[in-house]
Amino acid sequence: MRDDGPMDLDPEACYRAIATRDARFDGRLFIAVTSTGIYCRPICPTRTPKRENLVFYPSAAAAQEAGFRPCLRCRPESAPDIGVWRGTSNTVSRALALIEKGGLDGADVEALAERLGVGERQLRRLFRRHLGASPIAVAQTRRVLLAKHLIHETRLPMSEVALAAGFGSIRRFNETFQQLFGRPPSTLRRGAPAAPTGPAGEVVILLPYRAPYDWPAMLAFLRARAIPGVETVSEDGYARTIEIGGAHGIVAVRPSARNALRAAIQFPQLSALPTIVARLRRVFDLIADPEVIGAHLSEDPALAPLVAARPGLRVAGAWDGFELAVRALLGQQITVTAARGLAGRLVATYGKPLAGGAEGLSHVFPGAERLVDADLSTLGLTRARAAALGSLARAVVADPQIFGPRRSLEEAIVKLRALPGVGEWTAQYIAMREMREPDAFPAADIGLMRAMADRKGRRPTPGALLARAERWRPWRAYAAQHLWASQGMSYDRGEAPRDDRSPVRPLHPARPAARGLRADGDREARDAGAGRAARGGRARPGRARRRAGAARGRPR
Ligand SMILES: [Zn+2]
Repeated sequence: MRDDGPMDLDPEACYRAIATRDARFDGRLFIAVTSTGIYCRPICPTRTPKRENLVFYPSAAAAQEAGFRPCLRCRPESAPDIGVWRGTSNTVSRALALIEKGGLDGADVEALAERLGVGERQLRRLFRRHLGASPIAVAQTRRVLLAKHLIHETRLPMSEVALAAGFGSIRRFNETFQQLFGRPPSTLRRGAPAAPTGPAGEVVILLPYRAPYDWPAMLAFLRARAIPGVETVSEDGYARTIEIGGAHGIVAVRPSARNALRAAIQFPQLSALPTIVARLRRVFDLIADPEVIGAHLSEDPALAPLVAARPGLRVAGAWDGFELAVRALLGQQITVTAARGLAGRLVATYGKPLAGGAEGLSHVFPGAERLVDADLSTLGLTRARAAALGSLARAVVADPQIFGPRRSLEEAIVKLRALPGVGEWTAQYIAMREMREPDAFPAADIGLMRAMADRKGRRPTPGALLARAERWRPWRAYAAQHLWASQGMSYDRGEAPRDDRSPVRPLHPARPAARGLRADGDREARDAGAGRAARGGRARPGRARRRAGAARGRPR
């Protein structure tokens, strides 16, 4: 593979995919038409153009960077924004998480690279390889596509669309659209918005995903853990209070047609919309490509029936790192229901009341600064747990970036374990749900060991479970979710069932990356240094082949 060339897409396979309008390629492949200057999704209803006029790109950003504009019929902004690079490039994954959080809004690529512990040129090269576009183009495309979505799906005035999509100014927004579409943004709005309008100030937006999506399982997981006053889970929807930059709001999410979730967002500052969307994508795990993950996990006969039973199972993410860490600490050695009760008392005592609340939503979760000097002993916590919570709050106030992306899973775990009250299990759990590490795995979890018991009911030791889980990499978080689900989705057990301060030793400490890594993975393994190597990052040839196949457009 060329060093700086775009991802290797097999043009013949790509052409077959679009000739049949194969939905499996949606989000994995974008088609640019040189004769019109437009790029499309593989499912575009327009007539398939001549083969010689087509160029294929692995991302919308790549097509846009090459000078193509998004099609107004198939609307590339509605394609599932899946992370095909997940599991192959941790650096790209983490960089995208930062960009989604606005990591390039006020800073440059160099600063972004520095946060990830790689060189700027290295980061550019990885983006070129995995997305076919530069980090700046990815950030810009994200803004344009969000703006386009808001133009089509809402009634927001253009000035507010500009703000909500993250454009610094209305002039910049107008210029970008003029340049890209040859006309002002307002002319792109036609007819009534597809989404029904809600109360004043509410923005409704559709968040596409790649099917299948096990919504009932996601809802059951969230329902079992919903914090009274902050979260509510109804028959088919989830709602919660949010606080960003001191302002309060509510988000409500439920399924919609056409492989998307419908998010109704009430928040006073439209400029926070990209942040809210990014966090919702994380909570509902919309970046997952279930086909790739399921195919890999199914290679283990113990997991195959679980994947077959729940092919759309996701790993529920967290809205906020501090909130999740507090929840995890509260839940140590007690049941999920008891932990909910404690969290509810904490919120009622220290959470700020929500201005204009809704049914069941009365408070926002207290920020770390609220708990620094709080007397937590009145909540019914043990003295040790109350002390741990206070120290956690102080640590987060001292370093607000503490839950941000790290160079590697190992580095993240080391950082998290330095937090008071956070042992191996809790660290892995936070990495899984807040940092969206697809390979995080709390091996000491009793539920996981119970799920992996043999026919006579003998459970594996944490060490044996870790050894078995080697073959589930880089998707161990999904394996854990399947194993938990096999025990019942709303299993009422402690979140950290054993004393989480007793560490579980990794079975394979640092081990150099071995043969079999595909060329780009190999290069990244070197760049990530000890990080990837410590993961025992042995990419098996079968997996590499399959991934390369998918990249070329042959998903199985
Ligand atoms: Zn199209």
